Amino acid sequence: KTITAEEIRQSVKEENVKFLRLMFTDVNGIIKNVEVPVSQLEKVLTNKIAFDGSSIDGFVRIEESDMRLYPDFDTWLLFPWGNEHGKVARLICSVHKSDGTPFAGDPRNNLIRVVDKMKKAGFSAFNIGPEPEFFLFKLDENGQPTTKLNDKGSYFDFAPLDLGENCRRDIVLELEKMGFEVEASHHEVAPGQHEIDFKYADALAAADNIQTFKLVVKSIARKYGLYATFMPKPLQGINGSGMHINMSLFTDEKNNAFFSETGDDQLSETAMHFLAGLLEHARGLTAINNPTVNSYKRLVPGFEAPVYIAWSGTNRSPLIRVPQSRGLSTRLELRSVDPTANPYLAIAAILEAGLDGVSNGLTPEDAIDRNIYRMQDTERKANHIQDLPSTLHNALKDLSKDPVIKGALGEHLYQSFKDSKNLEWAAYRQSVSEWERDQYLELY
Ligand code: ADP
Ligand code: GLU
Ligand code: MG
Ligand code: MG
Repeated sequence: KTITAEEIRQSVKEENVKFLRLMFTDVNGIIKNVEVPVSQLEKVLTNKIAFDGSSIDGFVRIEESDMRLYPDFDTWLLFPWGNEHGKVARLICSVHKSDGTPFAGDPRNNLIRVVDKMKKAGFSAFNIGPEPEFFLFKLDENGQPTTKLNDKGSYFDFAPLDLGENCRRDIVLELEKMGFEVEASHHEVAPGQHEIDFKYADALAAADNIQTFKLVVKSIARKYGLYATFMPKPLQGINGSGMHINMSLFTDEKNNAFFSETGDDQLSETAMHFLAGLLEHARGLTAINNPTVNSYKRLVPGFEAPVYIAWSGTNRSPLIRVPQSRGLSTRLELRSVDPTANPYLAIAAILEAGLDGVSNGLTPEDAIDRNIYRMQDTERKANHIQDLPSTLHNALKDLSKDPVIKGALGEHLYQSFKDSKNLEWAAYRQSVSEWERDQYLELY
Protein backbone atom coordinates (compact mmCIF):
# COMPACT_ATOMS: atom_id res chain seq x y z
CA LYS A 1 0.00 0.00 0.00
CA THR A 2 1.18 3.50 -0.73
CA ILE A 3 -0.69 6.55 0.48
CA THR A 4 0.02 9.97 -1.02
CA ALA A 5 -0.04 13.41 0.57
CA GLU A 6 -3.06 14.23 -1.58
CA GLU A 7 -4.95 11.22 -0.23
CA ILE A 8 -4.22 12.34 3.30
CA ARG A 9 -5.54 15.86 2.58
CA GLN A 10 -8.65 14.26 1.11
CA SER A 11 -9.17 12.04 4.13
CA VAL A 12 -8.73 14.98 6.52
CA LYS A 13 -11.52 16.83 4.70
CA GLU A 14 -13.92 13.92 4.30
CA GLU A 15 -13.56 12.66 7.85
CA ASN A 16 -13.45 16.06 9.54
CA VAL A 17 -10.13 15.36 11.23
CA LYS A 18 -9.27 18.00 13.84
CA PHE A 19 -6.05 16.72 15.37
CA LEU A 20 -2.99 14.94 14.07
CA ARG A 21 -0.99 12.74 16.36
CA LEU A 22 2.60 12.25 15.29
CA MET A 23 4.01 9.14 16.91
CA PHE A 24 7.50 7.80 17.44
CA THR A 25 9.15 5.46 19.93
CA ASP A 26 11.95 6.07 22.41
CA VAL A 27 14.76 3.63 23.22
CA ASN A 28 12.69 2.01 25.99
CA GLY A 29 9.87 1.23 23.61
CA ILE A 30 7.61 3.95 24.98
CA ILE A 31 5.35 5.60 22.40
CA LYS A 32 5.74 9.37 22.21
CA ASN A 33 3.25 11.78 20.72
CA VAL A 34 3.37 15.25 19.31
CA GLU A 35 -0.20 16.36 18.72
CA VAL A 36 -0.88 19.26 16.38
CA PRO A 37 -4.16 20.83 15.23
CA VAL A 38 -5.13 20.13 11.65
CA SER A 39 -4.14 23.70 10.67
CA GLN A 40 -0.54 22.36 10.72
CA LEU A 41 -1.28 19.67 8.12
CA GLU A 42 0.94 21.14 5.40
CA LYS A 43 3.86 21.41 7.80
CA VAL A 44 3.31 17.80 8.80
CA LEU A 45 3.26 16.60 5.21
CA THR A 46 6.47 18.44 4.34
CA ASN A 47 8.53 17.22 7.33
CA LYS A 48 8.53 20.59 9.05
CA ILE A 49 7.28 19.64 12.50
CA ALA A 50 10.12 20.20 14.93
CA PHE A 51 10.39 19.08 18.52
CA ASP A 52 12.92 19.18 21.33
CA GLY A 53 14.67 15.81 21.42
CA SER A 54 16.58 16.46 24.61
CA SER A 55 13.73 15.38 26.83
CA ILE A 56 13.28 12.01 25.12
CA ASP A 57 14.99 8.97 26.67
CA GLY A 58 17.95 7.90 24.58
CA PHE A 59 17.85 10.89 22.27
CA VAL A 60 20.35 13.74 22.39
CA ARG A 61 22.02 16.38 24.45
CA ILE A 62 20.61 19.87 24.78
CA GLU A 63 22.98 21.48 22.29
CA GLU A 64 21.84 19.39 19.34
CA SER A 65 18.26 18.82 20.31
CA ASP A 66 16.33 20.27 17.36
CA MET A 67 14.68 17.24 15.76
CA ARG A 68 12.20 16.85 12.95
CA LEU A 69 9.40 14.38 12.39
CA TYR A 70 9.20 12.73 8.96
CA PRO A 71 5.82 11.02 8.73
CA ASP A 72 5.49 7.68 6.98
CA PHE A 73 2.35 8.29 4.90
CA ASP A 74 1.57 4.58 4.82
CA THR A 75 0.84 4.69 8.54
CA TRP A 76 -2.07 7.13 8.09
CA LEU A 77 -4.89 6.01 10.35
CA LEU A 78 -8.04 7.50 11.87
CA PHE A 79 -8.66 6.60 15.48
CA PRO A 80 -12.18 5.18 15.66
CA TRP A 81 -12.79 6.73 19.07
CA GLY A 82 -13.15 10.39 18.09
CA ASN A 83 -14.65 12.80 20.62
CA GLU A 84 -16.75 15.96 20.63
CA HIS A 85 -13.78 18.01 19.34
CA GLY A 86 -13.61 16.02 16.12
CA LYS A 87 -11.61 13.11 14.85
CA VAL A 88 -8.01 12.32 15.62
CA ALA A 89 -5.68 10.75 13.07
CA ARG A 90 -2.17 9.54 13.51
CA LEU A 91 1.00 9.18 11.49
CA ILE A 92 4.02 7.21 12.66
CA CYS A 93 7.17 9.19 12.05
CA SER A 94 10.87 8.73 11.68
CA VAL A 95 13.06 11.17 13.55
CA HIS A 96 15.50 13.27 11.53
CA LYS A 97 18.10 15.82 12.49
CA SER A 98 17.57 19.46 11.58
CA ASP A 99 19.83 19.01 8.54
CA GLY A 100 17.43 16.35 7.24
CA THR A 101 19.56 13.25 7.81
CA PRO A 102 17.99 10.30 9.64
CA PHE A 103 18.75 10.36 13.37
CA ALA A 104 20.67 7.20 14.37
CA GLY A 105 19.14 7.19 17.85
CA ASP A 106 15.65 6.57 16.46
CA PRO A 107 14.79 2.85 16.81
CA ARG A 108 12.54 3.02 13.75
CA ASN A 109 15.28 4.45 11.51
CA ASN A 110 17.54 1.72 12.77
CA LEU A 111 15.08 -1.01 11.82
CA ILE A 112 14.81 0.50 8.34
CA ARG A 113 18.60 0.30 8.11
CA VAL A 114 18.70 -3.39 9.09
CA VAL A 115 15.85 -4.25 6.73
CA ASP A 116 17.76 -2.59 3.87
CA LYS A 117 20.70 -4.80 4.68
CA MET A 118 18.42 -7.84 4.49
CA LYS A 119 17.19 -6.72 1.07
CA LYS A 120 20.77 -6.55 -0.14
CA ALA A 121 21.15 -10.15 1.03
CA GLY A 122 18.38 -11.11 -1.43
CA PHE A 123 15.24 -11.24 0.71
CA SER A 124 12.11 -9.19 0.09
CA ALA A 125 10.50 -9.30 3.55
CA PHE A 126 11.04 -10.36 7.14
CA ASN A 127 7.55 -11.40 8.14
CA ILE A 128 6.70 -11.09 11.81
CA GLY A 129 3.59 -12.48 13.52
CA PRO A 130 3.52 -11.46 17.19
CA GLU A 131 1.45 -13.12 19.92
CA PRO A 132 1.13 -10.45 22.58
CA GLU A 133 -0.29 -11.43 25.97
CA PHE A 134 -1.54 -9.03 28.63
CA PHE A 135 -3.43 -8.84 31.91
CA LEU A 136 -6.61 -6.92 32.60
CA PHE A 137 -6.76 -5.58 36.15
CA LYS A 138 -9.46 -3.59 37.88
CA LEU A 139 -9.16 0.16 38.30
CA ASP A 140 -9.90 1.50 41.77
CA GLU A 141 -12.46 4.22 42.53
CA ASN A 142 -9.83 6.90 41.74
CA GLY A 143 -9.12 5.39 38.34
CA GLN A 144 -5.78 3.97 39.46
CA PRO A 145 -4.66 0.49 38.39
CA THR A 146 -4.79 -2.27 41.02
CA THR A 147 -3.61 -5.87 40.84
CA LYS A 148 -7.15 -7.15 41.40
CA LEU A 149 -8.16 -9.59 38.69
CA ASN A 150 -11.59 -9.37 37.22
CA ASP A 151 -12.09 -12.99 36.27
CA LYS A 152 -11.17 -16.50 37.24
CA GLY A 153 -10.99 -17.76 33.66
CA SER A 154 -8.35 -19.94 32.10
CA TYR A 155 -7.05 -21.05 28.72
CA PHE A 156 -9.69 -20.86 25.98
CA ASP A 157 -12.45 -20.38 28.54
CA PHE A 158 -15.81 -19.37 27.14
CA ALA A 159 -18.46 -18.96 29.75
CA PRO A 160 -19.66 -17.20 31.72
CA LEU A 161 -18.94 -14.09 29.69
CA ASP A 162 -17.37 -11.55 31.96
CA LEU A 163 -16.12 -8.00 31.74
CA GLY A 164 -12.73 -9.15 30.45
CA GLU A 165 -14.29 -11.19 27.67
CA ASN A 166 -16.45 -8.27 26.52
CA CYS A 167 -13.54 -5.90 26.71
CA ARG A 168 -11.38 -8.22 24.60
CA ARG A 169 -14.08 -8.47 21.95
CA ASP A 170 -14.35 -4.71 21.83
CA ILE A 171 -10.56 -4.47 21.42
CA VAL A 172 -10.74 -6.90 18.50
CA LEU A 173 -13.53 -4.88 16.86
CA GLU A 174 -11.60 -1.62 17.22
CA LEU A 175 -8.47 -3.24 15.81
CA GLU A 176 -10.44 -4.47 12.82
CA LYS A 177 -11.81 -0.97 12.24
CA MET A 178 -8.21 0.20 12.17
CA GLY A 179 -7.29 -2.34 9.51
CA PHE A 180 -5.79 -5.12 11.62
CA GLU A 181 -6.50 -8.67 10.50
CA VAL A 182 -7.09 -10.36 13.84
CA GLU A 183 -6.51 -14.11 13.49
CA ALA A 184 -7.35 -15.24 16.99
CA SER A 185 -8.13 -13.92 20.43
CA HIS A 186 -8.49 -15.98 23.56
CA HIS A 187 -8.27 -16.07 27.29
CA GLU A 188 -4.80 -17.18 28.36
CA VAL A 189 -3.75 -19.65 31.04
CA ALA A 190 -3.69 -17.23 33.97
CA PRO A 191 -6.80 -15.56 35.39
CA GLY A 192 -7.24 -12.09 33.90
CA GLN A 193 -4.79 -12.90 31.11
CA HIS A 194 -5.57 -12.54 27.41
CA GLU A 195 -3.94 -12.92 24.02
CA ILE A 196 -4.81 -11.39 20.65
CA ASP A 197 -2.97 -12.55 17.53
CA PHE A 198 -2.99 -10.56 14.33
CA LYS A 199 -1.70 -11.35 10.89
CA TYR A 200 1.98 -11.19 10.19
CA ALA A 201 3.48 -8.21 8.37
CA ASP A 202 6.88 -7.14 7.13
CA ALA A 203 9.31 -6.03 9.86
CA LEU A 204 8.60 -2.28 9.93
CA ALA A 205 4.83 -2.57 9.62
CA ALA A 206 4.85 -5.33 12.26
CA ALA A 207 6.73 -3.13 14.74
CA ASP A 208 4.36 -0.23 14.02
CA ASN A 209 1.41 -2.59 14.52
CA ILE A 210 2.69 -3.77 17.89
CA GLN A 211 2.91 -0.17 19.11
CA THR A 212 -0.56 0.66 17.81
CA PHE A 213 -1.90 -2.55 19.31
CA LYS A 214 -0.68 -1.65 22.81
CA LEU A 215 -2.26 1.78 22.52
CA VAL A 216 -5.62 0.34 21.46
CA VAL A 217 -5.65 -2.34 24.17
CA LYS A 218 -4.93 0.20 26.89
CA SER A 219 -7.47 2.73 25.61
CA ILE A 220 -10.33 0.24 25.28
CA ALA A 221 -9.60 -1.40 28.65
CA ARG A 222 -10.11 1.99 30.35
CA LYS A 223 -13.60 2.19 28.89
CA TYR A 224 -14.41 -0.98 30.82
CA GLY A 225 -12.94 0.27 34.08
CA LEU A 226 -9.99 -2.04 33.55
CA TYR A 227 -6.28 -1.52 33.25
CA ALA A 228 -4.34 -3.44 30.60
CA THR A 229 -0.72 -4.15 31.41
CA PHE A 230 2.01 -5.67 29.28
CA MET A 231 4.27 -6.07 32.30
CA PRO A 232 5.82 -9.54 31.86
CA LYS A 233 5.20 -10.93 35.36
CA PRO A 234 2.72 -8.86 37.33
CA LEU A 235 1.79 -11.68 39.73
CA GLN A 236 4.04 -14.36 41.08
CA GLY A 237 2.97 -17.99 41.01
CA ILE A 238 0.96 -17.78 37.79
CA ASN A 239 1.96 -17.44 34.12
CA GLY A 240 3.53 -14.24 32.92
CA SER A 241 2.91 -12.44 29.64
CA GLY A 242 5.08 -13.15 26.65
CA MET A 243 5.03 -11.91 23.10
CA HIS A 244 6.12 -14.88 21.00
CA ILE A 245 7.54 -13.77 17.70
CA ASN A 246 6.74 -15.88 14.63
CA MET A 247 9.08 -15.12 11.76
CA SER A 248 10.00 -16.03 8.21
CA LEU A 249 12.03 -14.61 5.36
CA PHE A 250 10.35 -14.25 1.97
CA THR A 251 12.10 -13.79 -1.38
CA ASP A 252 8.90 -12.46 -2.96
CA GLU A 253 5.23 -12.42 -2.01
CA LYS A 254 4.73 -16.03 -3.03
CA ASN A 255 7.98 -17.52 -1.81
CA ASN A 256 8.80 -18.30 1.77
CA ALA A 257 12.55 -18.90 1.94
CA PHE A 258 12.10 -21.11 5.02
CA PHE A 259 10.05 -23.67 3.07
CA SER A 260 11.57 -26.35 0.90
CA GLU A 261 9.49 -29.12 -0.70
CA THR A 262 12.49 -31.43 -0.64
CA GLY A 263 14.21 -30.25 2.55
CA ASP A 264 14.50 -32.22 5.76
CA ASP A 265 11.06 -31.87 7.39
CA GLN A 266 10.37 -29.48 4.45
CA LEU A 267 12.54 -26.82 6.04
CA SER A 268 15.05 -25.05 3.81
CA GLU A 269 18.75 -24.66 4.49
CA THR A 270 18.09 -20.95 4.94
CA ALA A 271 15.62 -21.76 7.72
CA MET A 272 18.17 -23.98 9.46
CA HIS A 273 20.94 -21.40 9.17
CA PHE A 274 18.62 -18.67 10.43
CA LEU A 275 17.60 -20.88 13.35
CA ALA A 276 21.25 -21.54 14.13
CA GLY A 277 21.92 -17.78 14.14
CA LEU A 278 19.12 -17.24 16.66
CA LEU A 279 20.56 -19.96 18.91
CA GLU A 280 24.11 -18.64 18.52
CA HIS A 281 23.04 -15.15 19.59
CA ALA A 282 20.34 -16.20 22.05
CA ARG A 283 22.16 -14.83 25.08
CA GLY A 284 23.21 -11.61 23.36
CA LEU A 285 19.61 -11.04 22.20
CA THR A 286 18.05 -11.43 25.61
CA ALA A 287 18.62 -7.91 26.96
CA ILE A 288 16.82 -6.51 23.90
CA ASN A 289 13.96 -9.01 23.93
CA ASN A 290 13.54 -8.96 27.71
CA PRO A 291 14.63 -5.46 28.67
CA THR A 292 13.20 -4.99 32.16
CA VAL A 293 14.11 -6.26 35.63
CA ASN A 294 10.69 -7.87 35.72
CA SER A 295 11.24 -9.71 32.40
CA TYR A 296 13.48 -12.19 34.23
CA LYS A 297 10.80 -13.09 36.76
CA ARG A 298 8.91 -14.55 33.80
CA LEU A 299 11.83 -16.56 32.38
CA VAL A 300 11.67 -19.24 35.10
CA PRO A 301 10.68 -22.93 34.93
CA GLY A 302 7.06 -23.95 35.27
CA PHE A 303 5.11 -21.21 33.50
CA GLU A 304 5.45 -22.01 29.77
CA ALA A 305 8.19 -19.42 29.34
CA PRO A 306 11.59 -20.52 28.06
CA VAL A 307 14.65 -20.89 30.26
CA TYR A 308 16.95 -23.00 28.11
CA ILE A 309 18.51 -22.41 24.69
CA ALA A 310 17.23 -25.16 22.42
CA TRP A 311 14.72 -25.70 19.65
CA SER A 312 12.01 -28.21 18.91
CA GLY A 313 9.42 -29.12 16.32
CA THR A 314 6.89 -30.43 18.78
CA ASN A 315 7.59 -29.29 22.27
CA ARG A 316 6.77 -25.85 23.72
CA SER A 317 9.40 -25.77 26.45
CA PRO A 318 12.40 -24.64 24.34
CA LEU A 319 13.35 -21.18 23.23
CA ILE A 320 12.45 -21.79 19.60
CA ARG A 321 9.61 -23.87 18.24
CA VAL A 322 9.07 -24.74 14.60
CA PRO A 323 5.27 -24.80 14.23
CA GLN A 324 3.97 -27.63 12.04
CA SER A 325 2.53 -25.43 9.25
CA ARG A 326 4.44 -25.49 5.98
CA GLY A 327 4.20 -23.66 2.66
CA LEU A 328 3.74 -19.92 3.08
CA SER A 329 3.23 -20.39 6.84
CA THR A 330 6.59 -22.07 7.40
CA ARG A 331 8.02 -20.16 10.34
CA LEU A 332 10.12 -20.12 13.46
CA GLU A 333 8.60 -19.08 16.77
CA LEU A 334 10.89 -17.35 19.25
CA ARG A 335 9.24 -17.75 22.65
CA SER A 336 11.44 -15.65 24.90
CA VAL A 337 10.36 -12.18 23.75
CA ASP A 338 8.04 -10.30 26.09
CA PRO A 339 5.85 -7.28 25.41
CA THR A 340 8.17 -4.80 27.16
CA ALA A 341 10.64 -5.27 24.30
CA ASN A 342 10.97 -2.26 22.03
CA PRO A 343 9.58 -3.93 18.86
CA TYR A 344 11.85 -1.90 16.54
CA LEU A 345 14.98 -2.92 18.44
CA ALA A 346 13.87 -6.52 19.00
CA ILE A 347 12.97 -7.16 15.36
CA ALA A 348 16.23 -5.55 14.16
CA ALA A 349 18.30 -7.66 16.58
CA ILE A 350 16.45 -10.90 15.78
CA LEU A 351 16.85 -10.28 12.06
CA GLU A 352 20.54 -9.55 12.39
CA ALA A 353 21.07 -12.70 14.49
CA GLY A 354 19.33 -14.88 11.91
CA LEU A 355 21.09 -13.26 8.95
CA ASP A 356 24.40 -13.87 10.70
CA GLY A 357 23.51 -17.57 10.77
CA VAL A 358 22.59 -17.45 7.07
CA SER A 359 25.70 -15.58 5.90
CA ASN A 360 28.01 -17.82 7.93
CA GLY A 361 26.15 -21.03 7.04
CA LEU A 362 25.72 -22.01 10.72
CA THR A 363 24.01 -25.29 11.56
CA PRO A 364 21.97 -25.78 14.73
CA GLU A 365 22.41 -28.51 17.34
CA ASP A 366 19.84 -31.30 17.06
CA ALA A 367 16.26 -30.57 18.07
CA ILE A 368 15.29 -31.44 21.63
CA ASP A 369 11.86 -33.02 21.50
CA ARG A 370 11.49 -33.66 25.22
CA ASN A 371 10.61 -31.50 28.17
CA ILE A 372 13.89 -29.79 29.03
CA TYR A 373 12.70 -28.80 32.50
CA ARG A 374 12.50 -32.45 33.50
CA MET A 375 16.09 -33.19 32.47
CA GLN A 376 18.87 -33.43 35.01
CA ASP A 377 21.59 -30.79 34.83
CA THR A 378 24.08 -33.40 33.63
CA GLU A 379 21.74 -34.46 30.85
CA ARG A 380 21.33 -30.87 29.70
CA LYS A 381 25.08 -30.51 29.70
CA ALA A 382 25.50 -33.66 27.61
CA ASN A 383 23.05 -32.19 25.08
CA HIS A 384 24.92 -28.84 25.01
CA ILE A 385 21.89 -27.00 26.37
CA GLN A 386 22.81 -23.61 27.82
CA ASP A 387 20.40 -21.42 29.73
CA LEU A 388 19.25 -17.87 29.05
CA PRO A 389 20.70 -15.06 31.20
CA SER A 390 18.84 -15.06 34.52
CA THR A 391 18.90 -11.33 35.25
CA LEU A 392 18.92 -8.07 33.33
CA HIS A 393 22.46 -7.53 34.58
CA ASN A 394 23.72 -10.82 33.12
CA ALA A 395 21.83 -10.19 29.91
CA LEU A 396 23.51 -6.79 29.51
CA LYS A 397 26.90 -8.42 30.02
CA ASP A 398 26.11 -10.96 27.30
CA LEU A 399 24.96 -8.19 24.98
CA SER A 400 28.22 -6.32 25.54
CA LYS A 401 30.08 -9.44 24.36
CA ASP A 402 28.05 -9.89 21.17
CA PRO A 403 29.28 -7.62 18.36
CA VAL A 404 26.59 -8.85 15.96
CA ILE A 405 23.72 -7.80 18.21
CA LYS A 406 25.45 -4.56 19.15
CA GLY A 407 25.83 -3.94 15.42
CA ALA A 408 22.09 -4.51 15.01
CA LEU A 409 21.49 -1.49 17.24
CA GLY A 410 24.31 0.68 15.95
CA GLU A 411 26.60 2.75 18.15
CA HIS A 412 24.14 5.42 19.28
CA LEU A 413 21.28 3.10 20.20
CA TYR A 414 23.54 0.59 21.90
CA GLN A 415 24.97 3.33 24.12
CA SER A 416 21.63 4.83 25.03
CA PHE A 417 20.08 1.40 25.61
CA LYS A 418 22.98 0.37 27.82
CA ASP A 419 22.95 3.62 29.81
CA SER A 420 19.23 3.45 30.38
CA LYS A 421 19.30 -0.21 31.43
CA ASN A 422 22.32 0.15 33.69
CA LEU A 423 20.47 2.87 35.58
CA GLU A 424 17.44 0.60 35.89
CA TRP A 425 19.56 -2.25 37.21
CA ALA A 426 21.41 0.00 39.67
CA ALA A 427 18.12 1.27 41.06
CA TYR A 428 16.78 -2.28 41.41
CA ARG A 429 19.92 -3.51 43.16
CA GLN A 430 19.46 -0.93 45.83
CA SER A 431 15.86 -1.78 46.56
CA VAL A 432 15.14 -4.15 49.44
CA SER A 433 12.06 -6.27 48.87
CA GLU A 434 9.33 -7.71 51.04
CA TRP A 435 10.63 -11.17 50.16
CA GLU A 436 14.01 -10.40 51.75
CA ARG A 437 12.45 -9.09 54.96
CA ASP A 438 10.24 -12.17 55.15
CA GLN A 439 13.28 -14.40 54.72
CA TYR A 440 15.87 -12.71 56.88
CA LEU A 441 14.45 -10.24 59.37
CA GLU A 442 13.63 -12.81 62.02
CA LEU A 443 16.05 -15.55 60.97
CA TYR A 444 19.14 -13.48 61.65
P1 ADP B 1 0.78 -20.73 17.95
O1 ADP B 1 -0.57 -21.00 18.55
O2 ADP B 1 1.27 -21.78 17.01
O3 ADP B 1 1.80 -20.31 18.94
P2 ADP B 1 -0.65 -18.64 16.65
O4 ADP B 1 -1.50 -19.38 15.70
O5 ADP B 1 -1.24 -18.12 17.90
O6 ADP B 1 0.63 -19.50 16.96
O7 ADP B 1 0.02 -17.39 15.94
C1 ADP B 1 0.52 -17.52 14.69
C2 ADP B 1 1.14 -16.22 14.25
O8 ADP B 1 2.08 -16.55 13.24
C3 ADP B 1 0.14 -15.25 13.62
O9 ADP B 1 0.47 -13.94 13.99
C4 ADP B 1 0.38 -15.48 12.12
O10 ADP B 1 0.03 -14.37 11.32
C5 ADP B 1 1.86 -15.72 12.12
N1 ADP B 1 2.38 -16.33 10.89
C6 ADP B 1 1.79 -17.20 10.05
N2 ADP B 1 2.59 -17.47 9.00
C7 ADP B 1 3.73 -16.74 9.17
C8 ADP B 1 4.93 -16.55 8.44
N3 ADP B 1 5.16 -17.19 7.30
N4 ADP B 1 5.85 -15.73 8.93
C9 ADP B 1 5.66 -15.07 10.09
N5 ADP B 1 4.55 -15.20 10.82
C10 ADP B 1 3.58 -16.02 10.38
N1 GLU C 1 2.30 -17.07 28.85
C1 GLU C 1 3.37 -17.90 28.35
C2 GLU C 1 4.68 -17.10 28.32
O1 GLU C 1 4.99 -16.49 29.28
C3 GLU C 1 3.09 -18.46 26.98
C4 GLU C 1 1.87 -19.31 26.90
C5 GLU C 1 1.63 -19.80 25.47
O2 GLU C 1 2.22 -20.80 25.06
O3 GLU C 1 0.89 -19.12 24.73
O4 GLU C 1 5.42 -17.09 27.38
MG1 MG D 1 -0.09 -17.44 24.33
MG1 MG E 1 2.88 -19.17 20.50
